[in-house]
Amino acid sequence: MNTAYDVRGGNAHHMYHPMIDPKVVQAYPPLIVDRADGVYIFDIDGNRYLDTVASLWNVNVGHNRRELSMRLMDMFKPEKMSKAFFSSGGSDAIETALKLARQYWKLVGQPNRHQFISLKWGYHGVHFGGASINGNPMFRNAYEPLLPGCHLTETPYTYRNPWNESDPEKLSQLCLNDLSELIQKIGAGNIAALVAEPVQGAGGVIVPHASYWPGMRKLLDEHGILLISDEIVTGFGRIGSLCGARAWGVAPDIMAMAKGINSGYVPLGATLVNERIASAWEQPNVPAAMMHGYTYSGHALACAAANANLDIVTREDLPGNALHVGTYFQDSLQQLMKYSHVGEVRGKGLMAAVELVADRATKEMLTPPSPYIQALVGTSRQEGAMIRVQGNRLILSPPLVFTNAHVDETLRILNIAFSAAENI
Ligand code: PMP
Repeated sequence: MNTAYDVRGGNAHHMYHPMIDPKVVQAYPPLIVDRADGVYIFDIDGNRYLDTVASLWNVNVGHNRRELSMRLMDMFKPEKMSKAFFSSGGSDAIETALKLARQYWKLVGQPNRHQFISLKWGYHGVHFGGASINGNPMFRNAYEPLLPGCHLTETPYTYRNPWNESDPEKLSQLCLNDLSELIQKIGAGNIAALVAEPVQGAGGVIVPHASYWPGMRKLLDEHGILLISDEIVTGFGRIGSLCGARAWGVAPDIMAMAKGINSGYVPLGATLVNERIASAWEQPNVPAAMMHGYTYSGHALACAAANANLDIVTREDLPGNALHVGTYFQDSLQQLMKYSHVGEVRGKGLMAAVELVADRATKEMLTPPSPYIQALVGTSRQEGAMIRVQGNRLILSPPLVFTNAHVDETLRILNIAFSAAENI
């Protein structure tokens, strides 16, 4: 029996694929990956594709690396990180962050501080806590009722916002005003933490203005509210700094990390807390059992893979590469604005989104199944690049070992794909 046929024939019949209707994935079988090397992926028919998404923000050091720390505290010394809690992925790391934030407030004698604020369009994983603070209703609706006391604030998304404000700095201020009003409404004494991604990934690569994070930190400090930075996508270099918050000059209280910590070779999540948080567990005569943990917390293989991965991140200065190649990447991607269905091209470092619209004037979204998007994805694949369109956004997040030559290759293929899509 032909093994390749079995894999194809059995696809989606005995397992669920994440984030998709099982009927859709049975009707439209996905490409089946056989192996990967460097920045290339090979399917079971031997076709080679440039990996322009780092297997979903994940394989930052490239595929098939063989090199094998507890150097996290050292790496995040500027943020005064003090302790790490290990788990098995991003959703775990967020769940841990939410629980530690609540326990912190109980330990310091303010048990009423148990509510959370997060940003519209944020993505924080799929566990009940993470889903409850998710900024996209699509991830919440099927599982409600969720955690009570979770509130959304406006996100600084220049292309689409309730005020139609296209100036990023003015929008940042409007969003900060919205946050301030929300804090007043809930009452600061009831709020445990605000959770945010330094650049929103799944929400469509929403890059805030440089004034947003410092303004947010200031507001939170005025009200004693903790800041949890969801670094699951931005951690370890993606936007050109070792963590995303650092790019905005902000030190969070808690950071949730996964993916880039070991490039996804072995599942691993980590929740880092700063000295302020850690000190709550160290108060003499205050019982402070941490009733939270996973069978695979600190799994030796996952941590060994992280050590090896972080050796590479440091040795090859991948944050520096993401900054350097990322600048060229962002500049080059602006060429795509010449295509009639491209509404906006935005990003930071090695993460970018191309927003596809039916009409530039109305900004009406172009969403799948659209012949334009099908042509874009199909042609890219024929030309040898794997691309990802999520809703009406083409989202690019290549491995952090990308070079300018890989950027050129991406653009060469995207130009062919967009030209083909425009001509259908
Ligand atoms: N937070 C963010 C910002 C993410 O992008 C993701 C996953 N894409 C998660 C949390 C959840 O991580 P995981 O899929 O490992 O549970």
